[in-house]
Amino acid sequence: MASKVPSHVKYVVIGGGIIGLSIAYHLTRLGHRDVLLLERDQLTCGTTWHAAGLVTQLRANETMAKLAQYSADLFRDLENLTGQATGFRQTGSITVAATQDRLEELKRGSSMGRSFGLDVEMISAAEAQRRVPLLDVSDVLGAAWIASDGMTNAIDTARAFAVGARQGGATILERTPVTRILVEKGRFLGVETSQGTVRAERAVICTGLW
Ligand SMILES: Cc1cc2nc3c(=O)[nH]c(=O)nc-3n(C[C@H](O)[C@H](O)[C@H](O)COP(=O)(O)OP(=O)(O)OC[C@H]3O[C@@H](n4cnc5c(N)ncnc54)[C@H](O)[C@@H]3O)c2cc1C
Repeated sequence: MASKVPSHVKYVVIGGGIIGLSIAYHLTRLGHRDVLLLERDQLTCGTTWHAAGLVTQLRANETMAKLAQYSADLFRDLENLTGQATGFRQTGSITVAATQDRLEELKRGSSMGRSFGLDVEMISAAEAQRRVPLLDVSDVLGAAWIASDGMTNAIDTARAFAVGARQGGATILERTPVTRILVEKGRFLGVETSQGTVRAERAVICTGLW
């Protein structure tokens, strides 16, 4: 059953997927306790529910690379920080190249990754097969190996953010859709929900791609 919403908060986060839950968690880690997260239905019921949970860090620019590296480090530590199991496993990742052009691209990406502080190793097809024995390397020319990549359970990881956010003082309400953003003279005032109006100083809209 949906609960009644508070009349005023500092931060309202709209959407209980992994992004909204991560933002609520990080706000509490920054010391903000007056955080309200509103989810239309159930936590993780959106795209997060479908995610395979691959945690990769090779990115095309430094900002995205740093963000991906921060995420991989956090996913590794989140269970200890919150007490909620996430299913994170640091398996390492292999990206294979089956054409000369792709191999060049991988080599360029690898040296760029190294310049961003990521430990990327270019390996031969034989070495790729040694590390992943089921891999058919008959047309593989080379591969990039990143030992710190891995996989996680997206739902449990999102739940860990929810646990951490609640531990930090945030309120999380499910089955509470935001029906309107209230703006007056260009200024944000709050949100209207199925359970009443919440005045807020800041809103973070995390309602997903779809
Ligand atoms: C098949 C598949 C595989 C994927 N695999 C990977 C992977 O391996 N690795 C990876 O990093 N990413 C992967 N992704 C991408 C990843 O799932 C998304 O980037 C991520 O889940 C997006 O999270 P989100 O919080 O932005 O969105 P969502 O999970 O969609 O969350 C948005 C939430 O907002 C709520 N909402 C919407 N409107 C309102 C409203 N008016 N009021 C209140 N709440 C509202 C929704 O109910 C929903 O819960 C995959 C995606 C798919 C589809």
